[in-house]
Amino acid sequence: MHTTDLETRVAELGSEFLRRAADVRTSSVTSDRLMQWAMRDPAFKTQLFRFVDAFPRLSTPDDVHDHLVDYLTQPGVTLPPILQTGLKAGRLAKGTVTKVVTKLIETMGETFIAGRDGREALGALRRLRSEGLAFTIDVLGEACVSEAEAIVYRDRYLELITTLPQLVAGWDDVDRLDTDHLGPIPRVNLSIKLSALHSELDPIDHDRSIDALFGNLLPILEAAHQHGVFLNFDMESHQLKDLTIAAFQRAVEAVPFEAGLAVQAYLRSGDDDAAALADWARGLDRPVTIRLVKGAYWDYETIHAEEMGWPVPVWSRKQDTDACFERMTATFLEAAPARPGEGGVKLALGSHNARSIAYGLAFAESKGLPHSAVELQMLHGMGGQLKQAGRQMGLRVREYVPVGELVPGMAYLVRRLLENTSNESWLLASQAGTVDTATLLKSPHGAPPSTDPGHAHLGTAPERHGLSPAFDGVGDGRPFDNEALRDFSDAATREAFAKAVTRAVVPQVANDATEADADAALARASAAFAGWRDRAAEDRANLIIEVAARLRARRDELSGIIVKEVGKDWRGADADVCEAIDFCEYYARQAAALHRPERLGRYLGEHNEARYEPRGVAAIISPWNFPLAILCGMTTAALSVGNTAIIKPAEPALGIAKVFHEILLEAGIPPDVAILLTGPGRVVGSRLVRDPRVALIAFTGSKAVGLDIIAAAGITPADQPHVKHVVCEMGGKNAIIVDASADFDEAVAGVRSSAFGFQGQKCSAASRLIVVGSAHDEFVDRLVASTAALTIGDPTDPGTDIGPVINRAAAETIRRYIDTGRQEATLALAMDVPETGLMPDRDYVGPHIFVDVSETATIATEEIFGPVLSVFRARDFDDALRLANASHYKLTGGVYSRRPAHLERARREFRVGNLYLNRGTTGALVGRQPFGGFGMSGVGSKAGGRDYLLHFTQPRVVTENTTRRGFAPDLA
Ligand code: NAD
Repeated sequence: MHTTDLETRVAELGSEFLRRAADVRTSSVTSDRLMQWAMRDPAFKTQLFRFVDAFPRLSTPDDVHDHLVDYLTQPGVTLPPILQTGLKAGRLAKGTVTKVVTKLIETMGETFIAGRDGREALGALRRLRSEGLAFTIDVLGEACVSEAEAIVYRDRYLELITTLPQLVAGWDDVDRLDTDHLGPIPRVNLSIKLSALHSELDPIDHDRSIDALFGNLLPILEAAHQHGVFLNFDMESHQLKDLTIAAFQRAVEAVPFEAGLAVQAYLRSGDDDAAALADWARGLDRPVTIRLVKGAYWDYETIHAEEMGWPVPVWSRKQDTDACFERMTATFLEAAPARPGEGGVKLALGSHNARSIAYGLAFAESKGLPHSAVELQMLHGMGGQLKQAGRQMGLRVREYVPVGELVPGMAYLVRRLLENTSNESWLLASQAGTVDTATLLKSPHGAPPSTDPGHAHLGTAPERHGLSPAFDGVGDGRPFDNEALRDFSDAATREAFAKAVTRAVVPQVANDATEADADAALARASAAFAGWRDRAAEDRANLIIEVAARLRARRDELSGIIVKEVGKDWRGADADVCEAIDFCEYYARQAAALHRPERLGRYLGEHNEARYEPRGVAAIISPWNFPLAILCGMTTAALSVGNTAIIKPAEPALGIAKVFHEILLEAGIPPDVAILLTGPGRVVGSRLVRDPRVALIAFTGSKAVGLDIIAAAGITPADQPHVKHVVCEMGGKNAIIVDASADFDEAVAGVRSSAFGFQGQKCSAASRLIVVGSAHDEFVDRLVASTAALTIGDPTDPGTDIGPVINRAAAETIRRYIDTGRQEATLALAMDVPETGLMPDRDYVGPHIFVDVSETATIATEEIFGPVLSVFRARDFDDALRLANASHYKLTGGVYSRRPAHLERARREFRVGNLYLNRGTTGALVGRQPFGGFGMSGVGSKAGGRDYLLHFTQPRVVTENTTRRGFAPDLA
């Protein structure tokens, strides 16, 4: 059909659809008064939905009341009259508030959720049938965080597959619903989510994730085949897209069940996805169904991409999604099977948009396909009139019917509420009756080229974030932005990284420098100081930026060395290298800014100028746990502002230190300006910090060594011309508080990665978990089960979560603490180390969780630096804050809570260098989360922050009297 004919037909079908919809009398989903208010006042909407999200976790009337008041009294919120009187004045009894609110939310829930389980939903399904609608059941769920939870989901799916067919078998046949143009179709249609069937589904370990998934998936496929149930694989986040498609294809090829897959048109990859799937489907011996949807996680995808610095995977404009939907519709319909038993695609349109639907029908007609070749799918509780219009037009309309409890269903419910109150909602526009038919049916194609805020957004990120100054002639002339981590959901990225890890060779470096070597290094570095100090600041900055470029060019290789030398996993090693690059780019710009003299005031006849200059020879003494990032950060901070540096890396990480040092020299840093000294800390480290030629010590490591260095630096021999300055970052005993309102899905994942990432060997790692009141048992159970699902293995393998600890001595120390813990507390989890699949010749300690730990216990107070977590019960939030603040270490801390007042108190009273609210406590980024603690954790110098370089410089002020015999240039 010619394009204009097709457009004419789209308009005809679309108008008919809308006309019929307008004639159907149903109550609008937006009739509810609260919802109407929400649509008028965005601030109220945000707070209402945040409250709705937290609501199911609240177990007492006090909790419900306090949260509601907290949310709705946030600045900028105008309360609807029904709430104004009682709530603000606190006049309503808490019990009454709870009852009213519970009822309201349950009613909202019932609109979108059909029942708690299959049997309860059966009434709703029967009603649908009587209204002429088919169904697909969606089992609502919390994020699956353990194998036990995955099994619960598997069994729930199996139960539906085995029981529903009998329950619906007796229903009268309705040809329109039970057959398509090629013959009968299953009456029971079930939608499944792969992330529910395996807690460790991770694109980084693509093949094995799918293998592991099949453990729970295969019985479902077989049961579906046996009972004649249609199974649709839902599509979730973009990160899981390729994995979901691959798993679907493998499933279809393994078991001859009736198969469907949801595909999202809001993805920029939509056209390619459609083409590849259509090609594949043509080669099959039976058709598969594609449920084409626009996509439900647009906000998440956009935010996540921004957070990671990755290209936004979704179209930024709604219209682009609509256009992509139509192109994909065409691709899929081109692949429609002509005869039963032939491969190809059957298309289901998951949309409430009359234009999108009309296009699908018109295009099908143009291919000589009957309307029954296209199925319409719409969400339960939405678009009632459209469904009836579809039915009247003889179309097969299927409802997507969520079944489940309110708690796990809350995320789904909030998504639907957002959709129903979104200004972009097509459904809303059509219902409001304010938009005319022609506009509603307007073609999304051929619009002016998209200005694409999604990508532009990232392109302008450095300027938009303004994390550092920008200079012409320094680097690319733009402000600093973080180096983006690798996106391991991309197959090519994964393969390149795997190759680099395999090839990486850790240089063997002797740890044999002597005091005499230290002495010689000091002589060289002292002699080189004046020349380096007097170089133009921009020159130095550009050399450091050249270091960044060279690190960047060898990124994966450096990660590979880190993986092999210290046992970090892929993501951890990649983050280490990115952070090193960030330090270079950030300090180079800050240093250039610092060296521009700043005039103070505009006094007549007087010129005041502040300037900074380097201190002299810096001793850089670094730990092994961020073997590149911290070493590079401290070194480039010192160098960028004009100090010379003697670099003394930690003994277990000399290989990567050597490579880094080579890169410094290759980039053009003079050899006497940056000298590598590889020897025992107790010998050469100790010698360096005590030498009068050292002006500055930058140390990161343990408290014991740090305090020793501070003491040593305080002794000033008679011939020493300066007081030494010590930048000192030490250990942590970091706590995360989880209260009853927390999102447990997020908190479990966040605590698990904070406590056990890199085997707990991060200074920022969570080693104390404080759970408030009633949340304790459920939270700890989920955390323990989730931790037990981690894989202990060889970190060169992408599927490994837990690698070895740094060395035998560390393993023995950690094991001693575990023995102490057994005396002091109750062991809730002790993960055994498997016999095989480990890194050769390394020492392993599995994750351990202790509960009922007293606050004075050894394991509650001392830094363990391994995978050991102590759990405490707090009576209330006050008690939790008291426990958290009890440690002398003040490095990181975390709070998982959805109670605004708790978050506000934590901001003020949880006294640590880096506090994280509703996220994990590790992974600070340069410029965004300047890092470092106080108390026994450090001197508060904040690496990767604006003030850091001040510690590496000394300030001077020059004042000139500019008056000469009564004449002042300023007056001229
Ligand atoms: P460590 O204190 O044992 O060693 C750190 C460095 O000091 C090494 O280079 C070592 O050779 C050197 N050293 C040892 N004895 C010395 C001495 N007497 N004089 C001078 N130098 C000496 O620490 P580590 O085991 O390498 O690292 C783990 C520790 O580092 C943990 O306590 C961790 O919390 C801490 N850390 C803190 C931060 C932070 O930013 N606060 C970051 C990473 C690690």
